[in-house]
Amino acid sequence: MTNTDTADVAATVRQVAALARAGSELVRVTVNNDEAAAAVPRIADALDRMGLAVPVIGDFHYNGHLLLTRHPACARALAKYRINPGNVGGKRADENFRAIIDVALANDKPVRIGVNWGSLDQSLLTEMMDANARQDHPADARDVTMEAMVESALRSAALAEFAGMRHERIVLSAKVSGVQDLVDVYRMLAGRCDYPLHLGLTEAGLGAKGIIASTAGLSILLQEGIGDTIRVSLTPAPGGDRTEEVQVAQQVLQSLGLRSFTPQVTSCPGCGRTTSTFFQEMAQQIQDYLREKMPVWRQERPGVAEMKVAVMGCVVNGPGESKHANIGISLPGTFEEPKAPVYVDGRLLVTLKGDRIVAEFLEILEEYVASRYGSEAVAARS
Ligand code: SF4
Repeated sequence: MTNTDTADVAATVRQVAALARAGSELVRVTVNNDEAAAAVPRIADALDRMGLAVPVIGDFHYNGHLLLTRHPACARALAKYRINPGNVGGKRADENFRAIIDVALANDKPVRIGVNWGSLDQSLLTEMMDANARQDHPADARDVTMEAMVESALRSAALAEFAGMRHERIVLSAKVSGVQDLVDVYRMLAGRCDYPLHLGLTEAGLGAKGIIASTAGLSILLQEGIGDTIRVSLTPAPGGDRTEEVQVAQQVLQSLGLRSFTPQVTSCPGCGRTTSTFFQEMAQQIQDYLREKMPVWRQERPGVAEMKVAVMGCVVNGPGESKHANIGISLPGTFEEPKAPVYVDGRLLVTLKGDRIVAEFLEILEEYVASRYGSEAVAARS
């Protein structure tokens, strides 16, 4: 999801393009006022002119019914509307919700009904808390809240279907900020419906905490076969890279063996046998090189995302790990001869020495990719 002011067309286009190029397959933008709604078709046009076919989803709260009605070009340009049932308008919630569904139907757009516990429908929660309090053995308030989230999503989906939305055009999400709550609420949701589910730990937080909490929650659910799309919601560092959340989401899927996005670098942690920061720098340079090349390779080198590269710090595990990779290098550790054996498809290809080890390894890597994943190589293998 972008964090630009959507009314700032140039900035939003730049960020959507960056997210798409990083591999995001859907990008959501805030549509919070008339200026943002008016900007959406211009953003879509600009992306079109850049040849970026990424679907742009509108995120609506409080006034979605008004904005989508007042800005038909916005309604047409968006690929999907996200509706938060807790934020559609108090006493007139059903009417406003219905108005959004009507616009979606008129424009043949799917919707995501996205419940968030930070903005859970308060009248529904109160109704369920009151009913719970009347029980002989009331459930824990946390369990009632989880139940209310599921109920809010399912009731809204039923309302959308009643208004004419086809079952398969509805996606549900129920985002919370705690990992165990996330697992519980999605298990409940998955057990009670067959709508596609969008997963995400909301407000996951900063840096390592956000990455690890998101990974923990998403991994459990994905491993159980729950979830159709995912988002990692990281608080960026000031001036930080918004595409970090795309990289994390891809890494979660790739680590679980569900999708492949970029060649994987296996590198050891280093230890007292590694003599300098050269090994860490080399692992980083190779990782950066692979990431930079991927936008082009994705088009021209089918299958390259499955490639495994090993960058190891010494001969203890270096040659063994290198042999398990498509291509691997083992650097000299302390007291070892200053040479770096390179293995390709399990065989020793060459031993590199001197100041150009990184450059020469990248040349070998590039040749390997061209010979193994080029269109001619693919045709020869098939
Ligand atoms: S491969 Fe060598 S440098 Fe890397 S962690 Fe193992 S012993 Fe240490």
